[in-house]
Amino acid sequence: MNAIPTSRTGQAIPAAKLLIDGEFVESGTTEWRDIVNPATQEVLARVPFATKEEVDAAIRCAHVAFATWKRTPVSVRVRIMLKYQALIREHLPRIAKTLSAEQGKTLPDAEGDIFRGLEVVEHACSIGTLQQGEFAENVAGSVDTYTLRQPIGVCAGITPFNFPAMIPLWMFPMAIVCGNTFVLKPSEQDPLSTMQLVELALEAGVPKGVLNVVHGGKDVVDALCTHDLVKAISFVGSTAVGTHVYRLGSEHGKRVQSMMGAKNHAVVLPDANREQTLNALAGAGFGAAGQRCMATSVVVLVGASKDWLPELVEKAKTLKVNAGHEPKTDIGPVVSRAAKARVLGLIDAGVKEGATLVLDGRDVTVPGYEDGNFVGPTIFSDVTTEMDIYSTEIFGPVLCVMTAPTLDDAIALVNSNPFGNGVGLFTQSGAAARKFQSEIDIGQVGINIPIPVPVPFFSFTGSRGSKLGDLGPYGKQVVQFYTQTKTITARWFEDGTATGPVNTTIRLG
Ligand code: NAD
Repeated sequence: MNAIPTSRTGQAIPAAKLLIDGEFVESGTTEWRDIVNPATQEVLARVPFATKEEVDAAIRCAHVAFATWKRTPVSVRVRIMLKYQALIREHLPRIAKTLSAEQGKTLPDAEGDIFRGLEVVEHACSIGTLQQGEFAENVAGSVDTYTLRQPIGVCAGITPFNFPAMIPLWMFPMAIVCGNTFVLKPSEQDPLSTMQLVELALEAGVPKGVLNVVHGGKDVVDALCTHDLVKAISFVGSTAVGTHVYRLGSEHGKRVQSMMGAKNHAVVLPDANREQTLNALAGAGFGAAGQRCMATSVVVLVGASKDWLPELVEKAKTLKVNAGHEPKTDIGPVVSRAAKARVLGLIDAGVKEGATLVLDGRDVTVPGYEDGNFVGPTIFSDVTTEMDIYSTEIFGPVLCVMTAPTLDDAIALVNSNPFGNGVGLFTQSGAAARKFQSEIDIGQVGINIPIPVPVPFFSFTGSRGSKLGDLGPYGKQVVQFYTQTKTITARWFEDGTATGPVNTTIRLG
């Protein structure tokens, strides 16, 4: 047997557990990865890459549990969600600390991450009306037609590192409350806060086998995408992996939704409120170290607003880079050394390509956290559409600033970018806003709102290169995603028989 790994201080390093059939179990795998605090490089825990047999066991027990769970009354499912939302609320500060330590984001951001997920759980409590079918009486003589929205079976969720609370909570509560069972594959970079939320789900009463967790990377994801018993897959992550998951899952007959990468523009008209707009741009560009799929990564200054650039730079300089748990931190570290190297490589490429580096965050040092993966706020101007810094999702605190002579030019620029996750317009003109919302080809539009993520009674509606599959996560769309509509056409005669004795075909014509 392998010796138990220890930290620099000699403490045993805990191992993240798998959840299979209601039991938290240690994986028998030989492949492990460290979960590292990005501000300190301290190893917080180890995460196993589950074996093929473990993934198969998780899916099979979810399949067995489905037989009972799908018949569990909706009121019982709702009561579990009601208890779950109360437990998340109670444990939010504790989970936020774990999340900040493993992911790097500031404590207020970590609390926001959990809170946005909690709102989905609250919405799941409305499933009684959300999952209702339709009924049409007397569509032909003694014939009624109605629909049932039935759960589909074992669903799987694959989540990214940047929202380890919100995104798992986009997925399993809605899937489960619809009557499905679930296998979750959290990000291998920061699964500890996700696991705390999973523990609370069991405490709330989610029965054994209804929610399962397997950890790992490509092999585990591919096993979920190809297993016969998995009926639907929700993916959130990068475009490359999301496209792979969408293709592989679809080829194997699964319903798949992939929410993917982004390049979100903020278009600024000269009539916008200057102070509010610049604050919004700094928050949306650099908050969470730019590691949000809805982060603003390109600012388009229209007409005379091009003169606002120096002020934007000054705002960015005031942001405090520090470890996420330190008070008053604005920008925490990026998630890993590899992520930092990638961001710095893209900044170097921007300089080589001829963009003007008006604020350089490459050499930031944070006293007390010299080993942290910090990148300071960085701003490029004179960016063109051919540059890598424009075409690639940087996923770091880097803003590309461009100019456009008119609103029409700005709209054309945004619409020719392949991504379609989010866009913002800053203006005081209702007419400009109305034109923009109508002509812009982006799934989520903010008017004087920099990060327009919809609340959970709407759905997340990224589009074009940022999404594959028709239906988005949470809201009404995800109820469609996690259910199969069955349409019943029924005839009942007054003597109680269901059909006539001879001709059993119902003629509607
Ligand atoms: P990622 O694609 O690297 O990882 C996502 C998941 O896929 C993880 O669980 C990971 O283990 C798994 N995975 C990684 N490589 C794989 C492979 N080769 N084959 C199969 N599975 C693999 O994404 P990330 O770096 O964790 O997250 C950041 C990305 O997620 C960004 O592109 C961001 O824009 C995107 N994102 C999108 C949304 C959205 O709603 N559109 C929300 C959050 C994050």
